[in-house]
Amino acid sequence: MEVTVKSTGKVLVGRLPKGSDLLEALTQLCQAAGIQMGRVQAIGAVTRARVGYYDQAARVYNFLDFNQDLEILALVGNVSLKDGRSFVHAHVTLGDAQGQALGGHLAEGCEVFACEYEIVEYQAERPLERAWDQETGLMLWPNK
Ligand code: ZN
Repeated sequence: MEVTVKSTGKVLVGRLPKGSDLLEALTQLCQAAGIQMGRVQAIGAVTRARVGYYDQAARVYNFLDFNQDLEILALVGNVSLKDGRSFVHAHVTLGDAQGQALGGHLAEGCEVFACEYEIVEYQAERPLERAWDQETGLMLWPNK
């Protein structure tokens, strides 16, 4: 199943406050603007990071904590509904002082040093809503 995007709606471009939680702040922006479906991208830096890695066999997220200053090389994500509320699902690539990349599923616990974001709203007949997927153990978009 897929949803046809009829047009783009609001486009939010701005900078997150220093010290804010990256995922929480992006989610709050979407909820405040009533964005139910869309895409998110951002660049910047964090003072610490927490990312998830989904263990497909065990069906659990393992979280990795990085207590160091890191560049946000690329944050890419989408917005859809989960439990009736705007939900941001994003992955992030971070760079350390040596230019090495690390990253994963964006989790709460990434503290913003500076972050420039763009959020684009998608308008469709109805937004995608996440639901439990038995094959993966994840809350995913329906595929049939
Ligand atoms: Zn993910």
